[in-house]
Amino acid sequence: MNKRLSSHVKFDRQYFKKKANPKADVKNVTKCCGQSLDRKGLKVNRKADMKLIEDHIEEHLRIHSSVKNIKLNSCSNCKRLIGYISELYERDEER
Ligand SMILES: [Zn+2]
Repeated sequence: MNKRLSSHVKFDRQYFKKKANPKADVKNVTKCCGQSLDRKGLKVNRKADMKLIEDHIEEHLRIHSSVKNIKLNSCSNCKRLIGYISELYERDEER
């Protein structure tokens, strides 16, 4: 695959649904952020979900020593967690 192209394509469930059936109606997603309504998903304004998110991040930081910090990407409208953005240490940066 073209490396330059692949870095811009987002391979999510919608992508593969559309690929499998280009004419399919794949609108079972939130209007605000395009997140699937088929699954519950985590919300950053839900205390129990934030606990899970924090636990996940703590574990991720423990396992991946190259990760400096992790930011949350969430929808400003429905507060669904969309993803994590990891900042990595520079090669010569002090840890
Ligand atoms: Zn949303």
